[in-house]
Amino acid sequence: MMKTVSSGNCTLSVPAKNSYRMVVLGASRVGKSSIVSRFLNGRFEDQYTPTIEDFHRKVYNIRGDMYQLDILDTSGNHPFPAMRRLSILTGDVFILVFSLDNRESFDEVKRLQKQILEVKSCLKNKTKEAAELPMVICGNKNDHSELCRQVPSTEAELLVSGDENCAYFEVSAKKNTNVDEMFYGLFSMAKLPHEMSPALHRKISVQYGDAFHPRPFCMRRVKDMGAYGMVSPFARRPSVNSDLKYIKAKVLREGQARERDKCTIQ
Ligand code: GDP
Ligand code: MG
Repeated sequence: MMKTVSSGNCTLSVPAKNSYRMVVLGASRVGKSSIVSRFLNGRFEDQYTPTIEDFHRKVYNIRGDMYQLDILDTSGNHPFPAMRRLSILTGDVFILVFSLDNRESFDEVKRLQKQILEVKSCLKNKTKEAAELPMVICGNKNDHSELCRQVPSTEAELLVSGDENCAYFEVSAKKNTNVDEMFYGLFSMAKLPHEMSPALHRKISVQYGDAFHPRPFCMRRVKDMGAYGMVSPFARRPSVNSDLKYIKAKVLREGQARERDKCTIQ
């Protein structure tokens, strides 16, 4: 199955198997949107803007193959628990953020980790197999944590010990410390191309004006075999119905892949 992504007036086709969703969760004001902003455009804002639920899409051409990464930047308060559940169900990789200077935000990450495992195990029962759940726990605001740290590293590391799909990183979105390493670690665990990490591809921006240019930019025209990433300017959060279809298709695909593996092994 191919998915069509509109980028300007150029249409990009991304195979469904190369489409992923990254879900960013955590209490309010811990720096989720700041981490996402570092990922998308390398920028940091000191000013706080509350998030309801932001959706972004990044499209890649990696050595000639198209990939798509959807990013769901959630709100910390979750006024609609069913929506959070749906976000978790559609997630392929997770970033759980707390602030190193806020104990309560760490407790929230512990609750979220538990909830993700519970929600995903419902899906696991459907597919009758343990789902791999690539997840990074991220202690943010490392830049001033020495002054008022409320969560020792050793305690946060305990949350990921013994799980090869889960890792802990201390980062600073403000100073851009360890952020690239965190994304690299997450993509490695998820077996996604390393080039999806911000530091490992050339960033191409498509301005709105370019979209209407007579000779539109098109990633398919990228001739050499490097890695390119572009933030999609027209990304909209899919509807609940599309999310449900996405989950159904994913469960089906995973089931088919397992059947194929069985046939190959026999
Ligand atoms: P969100 O509610 O989790 O999305 O948090 P935001 O990303 O909106 O950040 C909340 C506030 O914390 C903003 O004022 C940011 O400027 C600030 N902030 C985010 N990351 C850092 C960081 O690494 N260090 C410091 N000192 N402040 C940060
Ligand atoms: Mg936010």
